[in-house]
Amino acid sequence: MNKKILVIKIGSSGISHKENGPLLERMKVVLGDIKFLKEKGWQVVLVTSGAINCAKKILPQEKFEYEALTLQQARASVGQLMLMEAYAQVAKELGLTIAQILVTHEDFKHRTRFINVRNTLQLLLEKNIIPIINENDTVSTKEISVGDNDQLAAMTSEAIDAQTLLLLTESLGLFDRDPNDPKAKFFKEVQFGEELSQISFGKKTSAGRGGMSTKLAAINHLAELGIDVILSTHLGPKPIIRAMEREVGTYFHANPEIKRKSRKSWIASVVKPNSSIEIDEGAAAALAKNSSLLPVGIKKVDGPFKRGDVIAIKFDAKMIAFGICEFDSADLNKIKGMKSKQLETVLDHVYHNVAVHKDNLYLKELSKKTT
Ligand code: GLU
Repeated sequence: MNKKILVIKIGSSGISHKENGPLLERMKVVLGDIKFLKEKGWQVVLVTSGAINCAKKILPQEKFEYEALTLQQARASVGQLMLMEAYAQVAKELGLTIAQILVTHEDFKHRTRFINVRNTLQLLLEKNIIPIINENDTVSTKEISVGDNDQLAAMTSEAIDAQTLLLLTESLGLFDRDPNDPKAKFFKEVQFGEELSQISFGKKTSAGRGGMSTKLAAINHLAELGIDVILSTHLGPKPIIRAMEREVGTYFHANPEIKRKSRKSWIASVVKPNSSIEIDEGAAAALAKNSSLLPVGIKKVDGPFKRGDVIAIKFDAKMIAFGICEFDSADLNKIKGMKSKQLETVLDHVYHNVAVHKDNLYLKELSKKTT
């Protein structure tokens, strides 16, 4: 079955109240909708704001003389706990399992950290767990912060190759001017490449860092990568389900050229030259059945390449697939032909039991048949 990943971002005002901390009722609505979509076959990642907002009552501005950034960071450390406690309570009531991931910009830029974040997300999704992500505000300074959670959600969507990103905000979607103006025109759909320069942005939402222009920048970037974005409201009943069913919100269509191709086809376009491995018949049969590639099936390694590089996979002198490799070529050379259990006896650090994870694999033959 083709796996569909949905990233949902909810802003501070949708999930928290500065006087009363987390809004449990809104969290019930959000996680209830997510539960429904999971039952329909979606894998869902939630990017949530609200930590700073939750702690505003405990750490109010007037009583502290610290620098503004330090106050926000202290609030984030208090509020993040309040936020996750509330999510955990609601998740338990609904029979869902959640996980917390806190990231900074550095984590997406730094190769090894990026791979670790991506792999963790993939594993959580595979195990039916809902990752809940926020920025690690306590260690993010202005220079290294992601910016706002719209950007964080966009980076997450890119990292895990999501189909769709849903941005839940205070607004109903995209208007060509201030929505309070009776002449304002609502966009139900925006086609890829559609000119939007006539739009004048209203004021930023009350809580949180993002505004409409940063949202549109993130949307444009994702559209190029083949990821659809829905901009919709967190208000009202079933806000996520209604947005996914296109009853509400603005639907931004991604580049159809990219979408028509396999979502994984980008892997083939970034393959590292002269980096390949040869696999045996058993491994080739496993790949054809959509399994991951294990070190035991590798016969030969031609490098050098680094962990995280895209390499070519050959069988019987033919290139059959491309994939992101979980090991440096030197390490892979040491463990080729070995069973997963033996890896620890040879390597100091075993990041992964598989050499190429099935989610990071692009099969040449298969793609020809399915496109
Ligand atoms: N990370 C911040 C928080 O949890 C919010 C950032 C944003 O609103 O974009 O409060």
